[in-house]
Amino acid sequence: MSKILIVEDEADIAELIALHLEREGHEASSVSNGLQALPAALQHMPDLIVLDLMLPGLDGVQVFKRLRADTRTAGIPVVILTARSQVVDKIAGLELGADDYLSKPFSPRELVLRISAILRRVKKVTHVSELRRGRFMLDRKNMKLFLDGAPLDLTTIEFKLLTTLMENDTAVHARADLLREVWGYSSDVATRTLDTHIKRLREKLGPAGVHIVTIRGTGFQFQDAPDAAATA
Ligand code: CA
Repeated sequence: MSKILIVEDEADIAELIALHLEREGHEASSVSNGLQALPAALQHMPDLIVLDLMLPGLDGVQVFKRLRADTRTAGIPVVILTARSQVVDKIAGLELGADDYLSKPFSPRELVLRISAILRRVKKVTHVSELRRGRFMLDRKNMKLFLDGAPLDLTTIEFKLLTTLMENDTAVHARADLLREVWGYSSDVATRTLDTHIKRLREKLGPAGVHIVTIRGTGFQFQDAPDAAATA
């Protein structure tokens, strides 16, 4: 059973999708306004999101960008659903990085089949506990970092920080997001603390510390090929 979030303002369509998903044994919830999408995703942490493009509040493209920009929701597969049937819109949807795209009118059966295919693919990937990026290899199961094949001793916080940065290489991780992700919602850890841990992590990594890049005024990013000038 998987949890699916449906973001769709047309109630009859949302109900139809939910009905078909529930028949397949999935758990479906829905919101009808684009502004509700990210909070709902954070609350339910769904396995997949069905996202309509034409939405009140915040359109689907903006919703999609917000989902991808937040490290907590960036990895959730998204199937875009829209009344727009133009080829150019389909290409735009896929270029955004959506996992699949369906134009209305669509067959609910086909939507469910495509959702099942994505969920199977994702499950396979998440079973892999090793994350490799260049000289770095994270063994998530045993919480160990290998740099150029040699184990490096990291604290739990440092390991979580590095994992968070490495898991989503394209995103710049805002300080506030990193604090929430690594330390949890309830803690009131100061930004200074985050900077201290980043500094220590870089020191432990030695010359490889340059891969953790400071994005001025925003946060941090893991880069495979960092520009030396940007890390100062
Ligand atoms: Ca709509």
